Amino acid sequence: MAVEKSDDLVALCKRRGFIFQSDEIYGGQKGLYTFGPMGVELKNNLKQAWWKTMVWQRDDVEGLDASILTSPNVLKYSGHESTFTDPLCDCKDCKSRWREDQLTDSTCPSCGSKNLTEARPFNLMFKTAIGPVDDGSSFAYLRPETAQQIFTNFKNVLDSTSRSIPFGIGQMGKSFRNEITPGKFIFRVREFEQMELEFFVKPGTDEEWFKYWVQARIDWWVEQGIKKENLEILEAPSNDLSHYSKATTDLLYKFPHGFEELEGIANRQDFDLGSHTKNQAEFDISADVMENKDSTTKLAVQDLETKKWYIPYCIEPSAGVERGVFALLNEAYKEEEVDGKTRVVLGLKPHLSPIKAAIIPLKRNNEDLVNQAKDIKNTLQKLGMGRVMLENSGNIGKSYRRHDEIGTPICITVDFETLEDKAVTVRDRDTMEQKRISISELASYYEKYFD
Ligand code: ATP
Repeated sequence: MAVEKSDDLVALCKRRGFIFQSDEIYGGQKGLYTFGPMGVELKNNLKQAWWKTMVWQRDDVEGLDASILTSPNVLKYSGHESTFTDPLCDCKDCKSRWREDQLTDSTCPSCGSKNLTEARPFNLMFKTAIGPVDDGSSFAYLRPETAQQIFTNFKNVLDSTSRSIPFGIGQMGKSFRNEITPGKFIFRVREFEQMELEFFVKPGTDEEWFKYWVQARIDWWVEQGIKKENLEILEAPSNDLSHYSKATTDLLYKFPHGFEELEGIANRQDFDLGSHTKNQAEFDISADVMENKDSTTKLAVQDLETKKWYIPYCIEPSAGVERGVFALLNEAYKEEEVDGKTRVVLGLKPHLSPIKAAIIPLKRNNEDLVNQAKDIKNTLQKLGMGRVMLENSGNIGKSYRRHDEIGTPICITVDFETLEDKAVTVRDRDTMEQKRISISELASYYEKYFD
């Protein structure tokens, strides 16, 4: 995709209330973004779609919503305190700071100098004081991934739901990383949301489940509207695996700046439950874990046949919400020539569209038309597909343009004839076809968009 289109997409995001730079009125904060009225709907719809597929539609997954502030012990035994670092170089000339792996020919991307410091490790976790006295003795981390508290709550979920292996725990929510070089719009930010599943399996079945989840996640992104040809699979070479991983497959999406990670699927083996468990010596842990003297709980299950206790393996599909939103907006953005004019349209799948239908009275503030439009809005709203909007602008052309640009699947116009014949004009976003439909049939017509 051409860079111009990326700029157009970023401009549309601001113009139509999808995404704003955070704290813009004070000059903006790098790597922090705010989702506006349309953005919050799109983001929630994407998360809802993930939750439906990964939790509701399955019989082997439970949900969780754990705290963001995380005890240092959790992130000590997870390995984040010691290994969640990026190697950093400083430019001695212009004083800018860069990730070593993002430099070309050891040259400062800002001023071109080769006068750089040796790389030093920089921990990406944010810390904050807990309690009223900020003397450094009591602190918490803002979690750098949602996964860790799934592991520490493993026993709580297991005992409260009577699950047995294989089963998973899904969680969506904020994660924080003090990225050195945030950028590429919302691709790399410092505060973002993840949608993570930790799926626990019997050792020995892990490779099969790993393959299963890679395919399931590709299929899911395609269902959300990502074209198959814009996805690529990258298997991490064994010398480039994270400290916990036996195998990792990244799903790369063709972002405007090139193919980059949208979601990662990792075989975390028994690393995390093994790290956080009490009495590690009782188990045959295959991952390289740190000795744990602080845990109060055994994170193990009993094999029903052999009666032996073991630590399950874990397969983790982990997706970023912001990267998902970026990819879906990029896929959906189209410019078309219509009657000599450019029409910008977001071809989002209807279940993701921020507004599901716009109801437009032909004349602004005409009481009869507006009341009829409100009736229709309330009826469609009750069907539970998402937000339905009353568009009382009195300007049909302008309303169509706006709703094309935010991806509303249908616009419904209430005119003076409606008051007589109880029918409305329905316009389809993609075909721009207009049909006269009786109000009594409107609900079933509308629902078909979401089949
Ligand atoms: P990258 O290599 O791009 O930094 P990562 O491998 O560190 O990503 P993971 O730790 O696997 O990422 O996190 C899982 C998912 O969380 C990623 O696939 C991505 O969608 C999302 N994610 C991670 N870091 C960020 C970030 N800084 N901004 C936005 N999303 C992120």
